[in-house]
Amino acid sequence: MMQQHQPLLNQLASLDGQFKVQSHAPEGENWFDIVVGRHPVLVSAPHACMHLRDGALKMHEEYKGAIALYLAQACDCHAIVTSHRADEDPNWTLESDYKNAIRSLVERHDIGFVIDLHGMMNRYHMGVAIGTIKGSSCDPSFVEPHFSDAGFISANVDALNQSVAAWRNVVVDHPRFTGGVVNHTVTRFVAQQLNIQSVQIELASEVRVVRSAATADWPREYYGNPEAITASVHALQSLIVSIEC
Ligand SMILES: [Zn+2]
Repeated sequence: MMQQHQPLLNQLASLDGQFKVQSHAPEGENWFDIVVGRHPVLVSAPHACMHLRDGALKMHEEYKGAIALYLAQACDCHAIVTSHRADEDPNWTLESDYKNAIRSLVERHDIGFVIDLHGMMNRYHMGVAIGTIKGSSCDPSFVEPHFSDAGFISANVDALNQSVAAWRNVVVDHPRFTGGVVNHTVTRFVAQQLNIQSVQIELASEVRVVRSAATADWPREYYGNPEAITASVHALQSLIVSIEC
């Protein structure tokens, strides 16, 4: 069982190394990287490295940047990922160099769909939260089947399926992860300012983190679930290739 997932997990682990950086970008350089592809979908990972939000330093969301880069390679699509410590949170502030970069990428490459990746903790008893701003950034029935086909189970926030592994639950527009009903998210920016479809995908640690070393704050190594990680990557891959713009 382990072995069939290993090549993908190894690839993600090697891509993840670069996102542990704690320093700012060199003077005059951007704190994000852009990968240009041919398929008109953009995968965004605005919290791939540590960043400031309202003056507080937030740790990077592990493996999010790695998954974005993997998807860009596998699907020949575009990606934007933070590459250094950022003094702002592009998923929070109205104006952002990161958002401006998305705007020019979308215009230059006729991108028709943006997937904004985030990481959530395991404690919500679900593997994936799909945020569509109550159906206004894209039709959730277009996104969700790709997760069902990959082994996830559609769940309602009030009736999470307790009889299956927590990671299998996938919830659309969970009140905590709506994609931007209140906040100035990337998903909201894309839908409302650029007028193309977008979705926010929150991945729990279990479906995202291949391996996380012990730190001073968290003195234990952590391993996500290989089957769950493979399922989430395959679902995203299937979603991306299905999009025709
Ligand atoms: Zn995030």
